[in-house]
Amino acid sequence: MLRDSFGRHITDLRLSVTDRCNFQCVYCKPQLEGRWVDRRELLTFEELERVARIFVSLGIEKIRITGGEPLVRQNVESLIGRIARIPGLRDLCMTTNAYILADKVEELRKVGLQRVSISLDTLNSEKFTAITGQDSFQKVLQGIDAALAAGLKPVKVNAVIMRDINDDELIDFARFARDKGVVFRFIEFMPLDADHQWSRNRVVTLEEMLRIISAFKGLVPLPPHTLSETARRFQFEDGDGEIGIIASVSRPFCGQCSRIRLTADGKIRTCLFSIVEYDLRALLRSGAGDSELCDFIRDVVDHKEERHHINDPDFQPPRRDMSLIGG
Ligand code: SAM
Ligand code: SF4
Repeated sequence: MLRDSFGRHITDLRLSVTDRCNFQCVYCKPQLEGRWVDRRELLTFEELERVARIFVSLGIEKIRITGGEPLVRQNVESLIGRIARIPGLRDLCMTTNAYILADKVEELRKVGLQRVSISLDTLNSEKFTAITGQDSFQKVLQGIDAALAAGLKPVKVNAVIMRDINDDELIDFARFARDKGVVFRFIEFMPLDADHQWSRNRVVTLEEMLRIISAFKGLVPLPPHTLSETARRFQFEDGDGEIGIIASVSRPFCGQCSRIRLTADGKIRTCLFSIVEYDLRALLRSGAGDSELCDFIRDVVDHKEERHHINDPDFQPPRRDMSLIGG
């Protein structure tokens, strides 16, 4: 069991499989010139599988495959299949922009992917192009439909809510969730964008979102699945549809955090907002045995920070942005 110095059990690994992405979402912007990590620096499938196995042996129960855009990593299905077969892993999911999900979802399900979270920040096709830099709104809708048809359960749809960009669509998103039978997650905009355009007044808080959505239809709070759950969950009062709000900025949930992250180039991050990273790849490539890797990971977890500092006056955003960290 991995436990940090504050007594939190670490059971959830976010595994980034690439820093590359075919979108340039305004709140993320991964394609700033010259920023891709050299391919040789990315962990290979063998390394990713070995690391995943070691993490699971230490008590990780859930792995979320992320990036960058995980589906642009060539042959990612084979990696998912390898990870899905690790004994002891209870939950294997992926966060994706769904650009090529419709083509891949059946294979992903067959090899063992259990769930997907799909990013969709607007229901307006032109705005979609403006937010993501890709004219592909319909492809993402097709990806959502394909995930539902493939029986991945639940299909979650994530929107980062930014003031004056998509905060006028909260009710449309709620309707969409109810009509489609997807779980909608509203994410507060976090200071993790590559070009540092984040500002506090761009953040639409949980309170504001709840006020607007519940004026459309009453909401009943749902109990968390686990104490470390990131989203505050609600059901519509008529029982039809679920939403959740991830309020990392206005209501931090660090006290119950169970997460740890591995970047695509093999650095462990103990928090989204960590200033420090721990070089697991160097140890892996130096020929370390499993027990040495286990000791390293235990030691890193012991250094997990108590909380993030977004709301402190001297907050410094991390050097790496979301697409490199692995959201
Ligand atoms: N490319 C995939 C996608 O977009 O779903 C996976 C990687 S993306 C970095 C993971 C998640 O981080 C997405 O849900 C995205 O909306 C979220 N994200 C990225 N930048 C963010 C920011 N500045 N604030 C809040 N969420 C952010
Ligand atoms: Fe790409 Fe995901 Fe970042 Fe959008 S949020 S740019 S899809 S990594």
